[in-house]
Amino acid sequence: MSPAILVLGGGFAGFWAALAAKRVAGRAAEVTLVSRTQVLEMRPRLYEAKPETLGIDLPPRLAAAGIGFVEGEAVGLDPAARTLGLAGGARLPYARLVVATGSVLRRPPVPGAETAFSIDSQADAIHFDRRLAEIARVVAEPCIVIIGAGFTGIELALELRDRIVAHAGDGERLRIVLADRAASVGAELGPGPRSAIEAALGEARVELRLGGTVAALAPDRVTFSDGAILDADAVVLTTGMVAADFVRHVPGARDGLGRIVVDRALRTPAAPEIFVTGDAAAADTGDGHLALQSCQHALQLGRFAGENAARDLLGLALIDYTQPRYVTCLDLGRAGAVMTSGWDRAVEKTGEEAKAIKRRINTQVIYPPAGAPGETLLALSSTDMARQERRT
Ligand SMILES: Cc1cc2nc3c(=O)[nH]c(=O)nc-3n(C[C@H](O)[C@H](O)[C@H](O)COP(=O)(O)OP(=O)(O)OC[C@H]3O[C@@H](n4cnc5c(N)ncnc54)[C@H](O)[C@@H]3O)c2cc1C
Repeated sequence: MSPAILVLGGGFAGFWAALAAKRVAGRAAEVTLVSRTQVLEMRPRLYEAKPETLGIDLPPRLAAAGIGFVEGEAVGLDPAARTLGLAGGARLPYARLVVATGSVLRRPPVPGAETAFSIDSQADAIHFDRRLAEIARVVAEPCIVIIGAGFTGIELALELRDRIVAHAGDGERLRIVLADRAASVGAELGPGPRSAIEAALGEARVELRLGGTVAALAPDRVTFSDGAILDADAVVLTTGMVAADFVRHVPGARDGLGRIVVDRALRTPAAPEIFVTGDAAAADTGDGHLALQSCQHALQLGRFAGENAARDLLGLALIDYTQPRYVTCLDLGRAGAVMTSGWDRAVEKTGEEAKAIKRRINTQVIYPPAGAPGETLLALSSTDMARQERRT
C-alpha cells in the first residue's frame, strides 16, 4: 500500500496543500483531505449578503484530482505512532501530515461574550443574517453594534445598510456603531488607507466609539468599561482571530496568536513529519515578516506545505516558503474600496477602480476555477506564481 499524506482542514490552505501534495507525489502516495465539513467556506466574503451561497463543495474537486476525502472532526494526534484521531474513535495513519486547521474568532474575555453574533464561519454568518432579516422586518429604528474596527469590522459596518435593504427593510433608519479599544479605525492597517476608510465611514453615517474597552455583552446591550451602556438589536464581534483549537495537539512553540512556529519549509521542528500551514502557522515570509492570518497568505502557504510534505516523503530537497507581493483590498461598501501594496500599505487605488479589483478577488481569485478538470487544479497548485494563471 502507498504511504499516506493526510491534510487536515478543508480551508484555502488545506485544499491547495492537498493538490500540491498530489501533484508532487503522483502515484507514490495516497493523499487524503480530512475536514469537519465538505465545504470550503469563503470566509473573506462572510460580511456580504447571502452567506448561505458562500461555500463550495470539496469532494468532487478533490476526486477529480485523485485525492480522497474524509469528513470528520480531528480530536487527537499521536506523533510517535503517526496517527490522527477522529471523533468517534477512528485513527488515521499517516507518513506525513499537513495541519491546516485555520483560525477562529477571538472572543473578548468578558461576561456575555458568547451571546454576541459573529461572521467567523459560514454557519455564524447565516445565523447573523437571519437576525438581520428579522430586524429588517420588525424593528423600526434598529441599532447594530460591531465590536472590533479592524478589516472585518469595517467591511461589515459599510455593508449593513444594503444588507437591511436586501431584506426589504429601510436601511437609512439603521444606526450602526463601530467600537474598538484602539484610538483609530483599522489600526493594524496603518495610516496609509486611514483617510479613505474614515471618509467612507463618515459618508455611511457609521458612528465610531473608539479608545474604550467593553466590560460586558448581552444580546441587546453593550456595557463599556467607563459605565456607558448602548442598547442594541444585535451585537457582532469582529475582534480578531487566533489559531483554531486543534493545534494544541501539535508539539512545538507557539506565537501570540497560538500559531505553531514552523521552519522555512513549514515543518514543525519538534515533529519533522508534521507540516503546519495557513492561519495555523507562524511562518517567516522570507522578507523579514511573519505571514498574516489572511486568505492571500493561506493560499500560498498551503501550496508550499503540501509540496514539501510530498517532497519529504520522496526524499527530495524541501523548498523555502516565500510570499509574493503583498496587497490588501478593503471593501468600503458604497464608497468603493481601497487597495494598498507592500507591508507599509501604500495606497494604490481607491473608489470604483479598487472595487472592481475587490469584486474580482471575491468572485474569482479565491475560488478554484469552476468545473476545472483535475489536471488543471493540480497545475494551479504550483508554488510558482507565474503558473498560478488565475491569481493576481
Ligand atoms: C469575516 C472574515 C473576513 C475576512 N476577510 C479577509 C480578506 O478580505 N482578505 C484575506 O486575505 N483574508 C480575510 N480573512 C481571513 C481568511 O479568511 C483566513 O485567513 C483564511 O480563511 C485562512 O485559511 P485557512 O485554510 O488557513 O483556514 P480556514 O479557512 O479557517 O480553514 C480551516 C479548515 O479546517 C477545518 N478544521 C478546523 N479544525 C478542525 C478539526 N479539528 N477537525 C477537522 N477539521 C477542522 C475547518 O472546518 C476549516 O474547513 C477573513 C476572515 C473572516 C472570518
